[in-house]
Amino acid sequence: MAWRCSGNTNEELLDNLFNNGLIKSPTVKDAMSRVDRAHYCPSPQYAYEDSPQSIGHAATISAPHMHASACESLLPFLYPGARILDVGSGSGYLTAVLAELVCSKEGGKVLGLEHIETLRDLGEANMTKSDTGKRLIESGKVSFVVGDGRLGWKDQGGEEWDAIHVGAAAVKLHKALLEQLRRPGRIFIPVEDKDGSGDQFIWVVDKSKDGSVTKEQLYGVRYVPLTDAPK
Ligand code: SAH
Repeated sequence: MAWRCSGNTNEELLDNLFNNGLIKSPTVKDAMSRVDRAHYCPSPQYAYEDSPQSIGHAATISAPHMHASACESLLPFLYPGARILDVGSGSGYLTAVLAELVCSKEGGKVLGLEHIETLRDLGEANMTKSDTGKRLIESGKVSFVVGDGRLGWKDQGGEEWDAIHVGAAAVKLHKALLEQLRRPGRIFIPVEDKDGSGDQFIWVVDKSKDGSVTKEQLYGVRYVPLTDAPK
């Protein structure tokens, strides 16, 4: 019952999601409360509804309950100072929430990776609407780049990522993402079912300290595909 989880303000939306069990972690709720979803939605009048919204270029800002679920799955790796890669950053909303969780005086880094330049720019522009977002970008703790998310992203120095969020449905777990993951580290990724049905499932992939990899399938979802960039 999505309507019950909508609100007239950011706070009301998050309270409703929390009271209905769609946000379980107070830490995640708190981080989401520090990012105004209206800064990331093209139609601000629908910003506090628990639904996705088109942001152009066949992309959407995901529903807030989905963003909450992604953060909750990655939470053990979202500690202050961690390095996070957000593939398919789109509106920049989740990039900003992830930054609330990991960026502190001591450090922390969130990189939003988009294959469409206009959307790279959109994420960055949306984040600069708040003073905190602006500061995070100016300090270099958050940055938005253009590239193919299937190849991941190597920062200067080649440091790996503690967690990788993939915001578009992949046909498989791309090797580069796993290679660029720290030990331990975690990937949250929607993957298309191999049976050709078009069904998609969230996978949580863990790399342990010794480098061994385990995969867990969570629930069914509907995401925009992780594709080649439009020509
Ligand atoms: N987390 C974003 C989701 C945007 S939709 C949000 O909630 O706003 C998925 C995004 O993935 C789109 O912006 C799309 O442009 C991007 N995308 C699709 N394929 C990609 C690829 N190969 N590399 C990088 N980004 C990709």
